[in-house]
Amino acid sequence: MKRNIATKCIHLEKERTCEHTGAISFPIYQTATFAHKEVGESTGYDYTRLQNPTREHLEEVVAALEKGVDALAFSSGMAAISTLMELFNPTDHIIIDEDLYGGSVRLFEHICKKNGILFTRVNCSEESIEPYVMDNTKAVFLETPTNPMMNVSDIVKISKITKKYNILLIIDNTFLSPYFQNPLQLGADVVVHSGTKYLGGHNDTLAGFLVTSHQWIGEKLRFIAKTTGAALAPFDCWLILRGIKTLAVRMEKAQENAIALANWFSTQKQVTNVIYPGLQTHKGYEIMKKQSRGFGAMITIEVKTREIAHFILKNVKLIQFAESLGGVETLITYPITQTHADVSKEELEQRGITDKILRISVGIEAVEDLIFELENVLGQCNV
Ligand SMILES: *Cc1c(COP(=O)(O)O)cnc(C)c1O
Repeated sequence: MKRNIATKCIHLEKERTCEHTGAISFPIYQTATFAHKEVGESTGYDYTRLQNPTREHLEEVVAALEKGVDALAFSSGMAAISTLMELFNPTDHIIIDEDLYGGSVRLFEHICKKNGILFTRVNCSEESIEPYVMDNTKAVFLETPTNPMMNVSDIVKISKITKKYNILLIIDNTFLSPYFQNPLQLGADVVVHSGTKYLGGHNDTLAGFLVTSHQWIGEKLRFIAKTTGAALAPFDCWLILRGIKTLAVRMEKAQENAIALANWFSTQKQVTNVIYPGLQTHKGYEIMKKQSRGFGAMITIEVKTREIAHFILKNVKLIQFAESLGGVETLITYPITQTHADVSKEELEQRGITDKILRISVGIEAVEDLIFELENVLGQCNV
């Protein structure tokens, strides 16, 4: 049956109810191990690092939402990406986007390089990756839109090149969630999620996912995951399952608020630039319209001075100055000292991440309250 994604968030396509109890909420199997009747007999569950019914259910839901053949749940987004990197061997080469989540850059720079993996950084939203493909190139890793500069890459166009050279296209889809974008359908091979963000949606749980459109990748990843052991705990699986039930309404409301806020910021004299892919003036607007069902709820703004940026961070109250995104609460992040603190000065400059840049994860509060607070705070800035 073809159901709307909003329905799928609540009712899995392949329905799995608890037949004998009728429980509406999937149970938390809070167990580390499972008993066997006799030698050679198993219920299919042996040990929770390998399999757990609650995690299995969550993985089916996420695979269905991303239209993949397999999904794996991890203890964080970084645990998911670290596990993914174990697919590669020393001397393998990976093309990565220039603008990426700071934690991913730190993993590649400080862990993967030490393990012999080679990287080339390319601005995938502006340049073709083709000239950078070498004999040992095994994958392309990117986000779209990117964190925090909201650059948009054309997934279909890039996937034509990765298919031509038989290399993997990996997309971190955290910013839009499966509700707004399904990269596997556009030609990607693996989708990464920080489930901590929109999938969980309440800033209360860490989680990560790898979703793939190939059975063989799923099998390899399952072997690595059971060996390295970063699987998501049963209770956290349940929290993410509960979060996903409201994904559709949260994404719609957060986006509606984001559009209103982006337009409002555009009229403020202290704000020198509003970067939101839902604005028609954004470079990636047309590509977004083609490959996504929405623009998301992340806005990056540039204010006139560093002092204004600091003043806003100090004086907002309803809106909170905190790392992370994708929850019901509106949060402001200061990339230069938070998410991108470990990125080199030259690189920050090149990417335009200055001390005047603020990133806003728009939540689902009543938008007039958000605007009222920002109006007040900006009104007190002397410029
Ligand atoms: C937060 C984030 C991650 C890392 O996820 P954690 O759950 O914090 O480990 C990776 N990619 C993006 C785009 C993120 O926003």
